[in-house]
Order: sequence, then C-alpha cells, then structure tokens
Amino acid sequence: MDATQKRIVLGVTGSIAAYKAGDIIRELRRKQMDIKVVMTPEASRFISETMLASLSRNPVATDIFSPQPYGMVPHIDLAQGMDLFLVAPATANCLARFAHGMADDLLSALFLATRSPTLMAPAMHPAMYAHPMVQANIKILKENGAFFIDPIYAEVACGHKGQGHLASVEDICARVQEILFQLQPFKDKTVLITAGPTREFIDSVRYLSNPSSGRMGFALAEAAQKRGAHVILVSGPTALLPPEGVRFVPVTTAEEMKTEVERHFPDADMIIMSAAVTDFKPVKRIESKIKKEKGFSNIQLEATPDILSGLGKKKLKRQILVGFAAEDRDMIQNAKKKLEQKNLDLIVANDISQSGVGFDSETNQVTLITSSGEIKSLPKEKKERIAERILEHLENLQKNNT
Ligand code: C5P
Repeated sequence: MDATQKRIVLGVTGSIAAYKAGDIIRELRRKQMDIKVVMTPEASRFISETMLASLSRNPVATDIFSPQPYGMVPHIDLAQGMDLFLVAPATANCLARFAHGMADDLLSALFLATRSPTLMAPAMHPAMYAHPMVQANIKILKENGAFFIDPIYAEVACGHKGQGHLASVEDICARVQEILFQLQPFKDKTVLITAGPTREFIDSVRYLSNPSSGRMGFALAEAAQKRGAHVILVSGPTALLPPEGVRFVPVTTAEEMKTEVERHFPDADMIIMSAAVTDFKPVKRIESKIKKEKGFSNIQLEATPDILSGLGKKKLKRQILVGFAAEDRDMIQNAKKKLEQKNLDLIVANDISQSGVGFDSETNQVTLITSSGEIKSLPKEKKERIAERILEHLENLQKNNT
C-alpha cells in the first residue's frame, strides 16, 4: 500500500440504509482510499458480508471473538491502522452505545480504542432521530470530538417524511475527504529535518561522534509526513529505516550535513534541526589507518560549522526554524540563549542529566521555548508522542506566521 493512501474503517450498522454501504465503498475507493469494513450482526440482516468484502477487496470483520481477518485483537489492530473511522449508516442504537462507552461488540470496542477522527452518518426514522435521547447522545459524541453528517429531510423506508434519511453517498464521501484534508495542516508545506549524529574522522576508520540514535528526528519526520508535509530527512548514520514516503538524504560528517541542509533550505517552510552534530573535528584527517604500534598522543581539534546558526542568519519571514538543546545544567537559561543567538522560532530543550531522556533513549522529556517567550514543559513520553506534541505546537506557530 502506498504510504499516502488514506485508510478508512467503515462501520456498517443495522439500518435499511445499510444497502448504501456498497456505494460508499465504491466512491471512497474511487478516491484512492483503502476500505476495511466492520459490520454489526444486525447489518448482516440487510446486506451480505460477501458483497462488502468484494467491493472493498478486503475481508469484513464482524465479531470480536471468532477467528479474525485482522489479528488476534481486532479492535486494537484496526484502531491503530486507520486514518478515519466512518460509521454509515449509524443507528440510534449504535450512537447510544458509543455515547455511553459500551464495548461488548467489535464496533463499539473499536470506537473506544481508536484515536483517529470519527465521522457518523446517522440514519433512522425521523421520530427516532428527533427523540431527545438520540439528540442527547449526538451532543455527547460531538462534545467528545466526533464529526457528524446530518441525515436529510426525505421520505424514509416506511413512507414517512422527515429528517432521518441517510445523507447522500456523495456528501458523505466529500465530508470524509474534507476531514482528512483539514487534518493535514502541513499539506503543500516542505519540512526539512536533520537527525542522528555526525561522524568526524580522525583517520580512515576512527571517528569522533556521540550516542544519538536518530529516533527523535525520524519520529518527527513521520509525524510531519502524516500531516501532509513533503519531508526531507537529512540524517547522519543510524540503525533506523527512514519512514516511507519521506525523501531521505544520508550524510556522515557535519560538513556534508551542512551542504545538504543548505541545498534544501530555500524550499523549506519549516526546518527542524534535531541532529546531534558533533561539535569538534580533527583539524586534519589522515587518509590511511594509523598503525596502532605507531600510536599518536594528541589530536588537534577545531569546531565543526554551526549549521543552525548559519540558517538563522538567512531565515526568511515565512520560514519557521526549530533547534534542539541537549543540556546537562541550567537547561532553560542555556536553551533561551541558543534560541536568541541562533535566531530560532522554537527551541526544544532536554535535560540530559536525567535518566530516560535525550540521546540513545526511547523516551524523552522536553521543554518547548518559543521566541515569543512561551515556555511549556511536556511530560516524559515515547519519542513518537513527543514528536506529535512538537508538531502540534508548530501548527500553532504556522497559523500565527501566515
Ligand atoms: O550543539 P548545540 O547545543 O549548539 O545544538 C543546538 C542546535 O544546533 C541543535 O538543533 C543542533 O542540531 C544544531 N547544531 C548545528 N550545527 C552544529 C551544532 C549544533 O546545526 N555544529
């Protein structure tokens, strides 16, 4: 599957409008989306699993317990692998179950397990839709972030007229696209990210470096790409695989990193320098391997170029420049100084004297400091979560910058 393809889980519940699920699948597939269907037992009284499996070209999940097409814990596996959860049609029963946190069937458990945006397309008799209990459940769901596409005024199955008829297939699918687009705040933006350590060679095999794993920068690249950005990841040597869909530029030394960063800088709207550039390099690199027996007692060092400072000097108004500061004392004070000296919009500071923070660790604990003086300490979390939080912050900076 292409990394940019949107993954939709379509929940189908037991309404006469369930027969429209096939058309919804076809329309979303036409928009190049990947569709996986979850059906309630009541839905399968109206339409067949075979039909939805054939149209979606994916197996249909129906039960939380029986052998599953989507792993041993289907509500979790499906929840984590989707960009949007669409429930169409959504019955009064399904809305009530979602609103009250029930979890005794696959669809309800999936609703609780996912953190992806959810779009409900209710369909029911107008009298049911107008009932205060149904409206109260819709209110609860909306207050908790669910999106709704309202049913339309039309004749429903029993011949009565009123609001309760499922919205049109075209409108539902257009709303899906709109929500996915809204959730792509970096669409058409180019984000340049540096990651990992650099290596500064003493001779042909020995080098100076640091324990940076590259994990923070790679997590940032993935988070930016998920938000629709075109991502260029310039990275020193790491053991990580670059995220799919990201333009990956491997480098080794600080000089090489500088060249590549400067090459891509003019196109970038946002530049996040999370690389742990090695600050010193041997004045002279010996081309062959120094013989152990011969030994050498001192290496003369000089500073590597400060890539970020250079960018700070030529930064354009439309560009947002982000630096990292790994500090083992006076973190805030030192980070603020770097923010000013390097002309940054945001600096991400971490106190590397704490355990489980910074360099070669899975977790991080950072404080965000902006040029406007805002200071925000984030809780210690996995680097992937920290990356999400940093990008949420950048979304706000970007809004204020336009
Ligand atoms: O090493 P220092 O604490 O000054 O690093 C702060 C920021 O500057 C980091 O974002 C790092 O990626 C960047 N930096 C750089 N070139 C260097 C050293 C650091 O771009 N030579």
